[in-house]
Amino acid sequence: MAMDMNLEDRFCPSCGAKAPADAVFCPHCGKPLQEPQLSTSIGKQIIIYLVSFFLPPFGLAWTFKYLRQENKKAKIIGLVSLILTIAAVIVGIWAIFGFMNGLNSSLNGALGGSNSQFNQLMQL
Ligand SMILES: [Zn+2]
Repeated sequence: MAMDMNLEDRFCPSCGAKAPADAVFCPHCGKPLQEPQLSTSIGKQIIIYLVSFFLPPFGLAWTFKYLRQENKKAKIIGLVSLILTIAAVIVGIWAIFGFMNGLNSSLNGALGGSNSQFNQLMQL
């Protein structure tokens, strides 16, 4: 009977009772043990990836839901959407910095011009 103690045993998140790995509902309190399977269809993946990349914070809800799945394919989807979200944030920050730098240098250019004239005046 010692073989019954395997790593696959789940514990009910509601009452903590041990439940068999394949149990869908807790035998003790009847609460669902497994989250419903998330879709891993191509269409769903595309939506998740698009939202992850173009609307960064909104993709994260899916990202964590998929990462928590035991299904390997779902985990990969979660991972990809996480990477896309991070990439989108990096691109966003980079774009903002690029814009600020551009703004700075054009301001510096404008101010720099008058500054050097000012400096020349001071040197006279
Ligand atoms: Zn329970």
